[in-house]
Amino acid sequence: MQAIGVDLGGTKIEVGIVDHQGQLLKSSRLATESAQGPQKIQAKLLKAIKEIIQSNKEPIAGIGVGIAGQVDGQTGVVHFAPNLPDWYEIPLQTTLFEEIKLPVKVMNDVRAITMGEWLFGAGQKASDLVCVFVGTGIGGGVVSGGRLLTGGSNSFAEVGHMAIDVNGPTCGCGNRGCWEAIAGGGGIAKQAQLLAKQDSFASKKLLELCEGKILNISAKTVVEAYHLKDPLAISLMEAVQNALIIGCANLVNLYNPTHFIIGGGVIDGAPGLIEGIKQGVKEKALSAPCRSLSILPARLGKQVGVVGAAAAIINELAN
Ligand SMILES: [Zn+2]
Repeated sequence: MQAIGVDLGGTKIEVGIVDHQGQLLKSSRLATESAQGPQKIQAKLLKAIKEIIQSNKEPIAGIGVGIAGQVDGQTGVVHFAPNLPDWYEIPLQTTLFEEIKLPVKVMNDVRAITMGEWLFGAGQKASDLVCVFVGTGIGGGVVSGGRLLTGGSNSFAEVGHMAIDVNGPTCGCGNRGCWEAIAGGGGIAKQAQLLAKQDSFASKKLLELCEGKILNISAKTVVEAYHLKDPLAISLMEAVQNALIIGCANLVNLYNPTHFIIGGGVIDGAPGLIEGIKQGVKEKALSAPCRSLSILPARLGKQVGVVGAAAAIINELAN
């Protein structure tokens, strides 16, 4: 079986063909140009899907789409996508189905990533798995008793908005001290920018790396300065690691997974964090759920979004 996976992000759209063993056979990438709005982006996506289907010798069984945002589990209507302006109540699944006449599944991007790592990545054959991706925000997925949890209104698992420090920085959701406000890429950048405003001497290295423009300080800048052993970046990344340990330990206590998979841009930038998380979680989480626990780096790399979205539709069609 071959299926199409789509990773629909705020800056780029990736479309790929994936086989039943999770191999990405071919893919194409185009700029989202998110300001163009939902109609133009959907037209562009349709064109890319039709082109890749035409270029393929084998028949395509279905299409999986992962998108950052809230998606209706039954209808695949995108309620809201924070990285795509004007995407409110967009019936993407129906539109794709009507145009292409193949089974379509639209889902949250980290849900797709979890499916990918579960079926084809670091979590193969696990019946109890937690997957956490630390990118701009922090997203998660949970498999419990062999079933991917979806929640009552398909918004499971918004782990990024678990409060870690009730006095911590303000989050995009309006609350304080959410996990992603402290340890997500966007949160790291905001904290570093604030520190740079308060103390230009201590943040000299950060400012140097972004040509003196505070607003250009990103999580990438912080990680770069951290690798250059800049004291401010080191202390920021220590706080990030501590927050990751606490959040992961909470999830271990809650879900008792055998496989705890961690990935995403922040982890890719500082892979050493995983060792610290492994040790920290063993210290902080209860000993009973730690007995069967393995903490593992995500395995599917940069193609995880496409492979995961395809995995979701392959899994649905196979069951
Ligand atoms: Zn929040």
